[in-house]
Amino acid sequence: MHGQCLCGQVSFAIDAPLLKLYRCHCSLCRRHTGTAANCAAIVDAACFRWLTGDGLIASWKKATGYRADFCRSCGSPVPNRLTLRDAYWVPAGLLDDSATMSVVADFHLDSRAAWDNAATAAASFANFPAIDEFFALMHTPAPTAE
Ligand SMILES: [Zn+2]
Ligand SMILES: [Zn+2]
Repeated sequence: MHGQCLCGQVSFAIDAPLLKLYRCHCSLCRRHTGTAANCAAIVDAACFRWLTGDGLIASWKKATGYRADFCRSCGSPVPNRLTLRDAYWVPAGLLDDSATMSVVADFHLDSRAAWDNAATAAASFANFPAIDEFFALMHTPAPTAE
């Protein structure tokens, strides 16, 4: 599976058969994306590789730990390597092939915008789940791990 930013200079590949996505409706994710929610996958580091342009990536961090990585050329959000797990956060909209993805969880529904009327996934949370629960929900095993 291939993904790229808006200008195409930052690109990456994911070697996973299917991806679970979550949507986060918090105010930070709304500003990060400019829309109702951040929609993203968590991908084991072993399944992820940069193809081009990782040197073009800039990073913004809030004191609380929220991090937004983006392409310096076009401003698209781009994947970032997590510090809590050996995994990458990957924005769903960057990926070419959407057929093998589905949204499994919605977070921070108490913070959603009044105009955000999207139907929610089976796992829906008023806030954010405990971090272990989050990773359990989002985990997609590597093809070689089974
Ligand atoms: Zn770009
Ligand atoms: Zn959020």
